[in-house]
Amino acid sequence: MNNKTLHTVHELLQKNLIDHKDISSLKKLSQTYATAISAEMVELIQTPTDEIGLQYIPHPDELVTRPDESNDPIADEALSPIPGIVHRYEDRVLLKPLLICPVYCRFCFRREQVGPENGLLSDQELESALQWIKEHPQIREVILSGGDPLILSPRRMNHIIQTLDQIPHITTIRIHTRVPFSAPSKLTSKFIKSLESDKALWVVVHANHPKEFTPQAYQAIKSLIKSGIPLLSQSVLLKNINDNVTTLEALLRAFVEWRIKPYYLHQLDKAPGTSRFYVPIEQGHRLLNALRGRVTGLAWPIYVLDIPGGHGKVPLGPEYFNPQTPHSVLDPNHKIRQI
Ligand SMILES: *Cc1c(COP(=O)(O)O)cnc(C)c1O
Repeated sequence: MNNKTLHTVHELLQKNLIDHKDISSLKKLSQTYATAISAEMVELIQTPTDEIGLQYIPHPDELVTRPDESNDPIADEALSPIPGIVHRYEDRVLLKPLLICPVYCRFCFRREQVGPENGLLSDQELESALQWIKEHPQIREVILSGGDPLILSPRRMNHIIQTLDQIPHITTIRIHTRVPFSAPSKLTSKFIKSLESDKALWVVVHANHPKEFTPQAYQAIKSLIKSGIPLLSQSVLLKNINDNVTTLEALLRAFVEWRIKPYYLHQLDKAPGTSRFYVPIEQGHRLLNALRGRVTGLAWPIYVLDIPGGHGKVPLGPEYFNPQTPHSVLDPNHKIRQI
């Protein structure tokens, strides 16, 4: 396989992923938002408007920012005491060792930061971030988030893990990544080895459509599982990609069949130019209702919204208990039952 990641409008054109008529808008777009489509994803795209193409190929509609969209929709920046750290919740902290991502999904809320030029935290910034964690004993869990932490070099990843291993108040390390699905060849055995930790290390993998479950992704997932790492999933509810019961059911079942426990189904953050993926919360609610009782409980995710303005994540239901009527609940078919 040609192992090249596509970045430029010219490269997209060569692979027939974009239309000639869109060239000038896409060139303009590329000044703001980077594109990266791994060789694996190029292979997987059958048509530019299929569920994989939509996620990765830039589109002129992304130039349009709606009034309710924001560069920092969940106000992470205000919660960042020093570069690389986002501290919103008392007991856990995000550590973002790099801003680059191997695959710039078109709906990502970190869009304003894209561009390989602002890449890695410097060595000194990383050391300061780790020092900050050391000095805050209320932090139990460190969440490596992104840009995607699984594109760090094994040496750098190992350094982070080893350093965290030596901080007594850290009990848990969590890594959020899309790499096992979107660029599985990056998960070499050397890299897997760099994740060895004395602490409980969890990995949350991100996939949005059953087509992403390829044989290469399976190898990557299997190697994580073999090294004893528990896996959870997160997905984003996206229009024309997974906003129907059949696809969501297949996606959630695929996770379970690969020994990955569905954790979060995210309501899309309102990042600039993402309205072409917007699914109303009412519809998300209906979809989850339709899945209740229909799929194994193991496959059931929490449907969450990161409230704009930095107020945190909240579950969006569905709810079956109402405190106003404490002696009854709804059953999975929405009939009232006495309890
Ligand atoms: C999402 C998020 C977390 C992790 O939240 P969980 O509900 O524990 O998965 C932590 N910090 C920040 C800033 C977040 O946005």
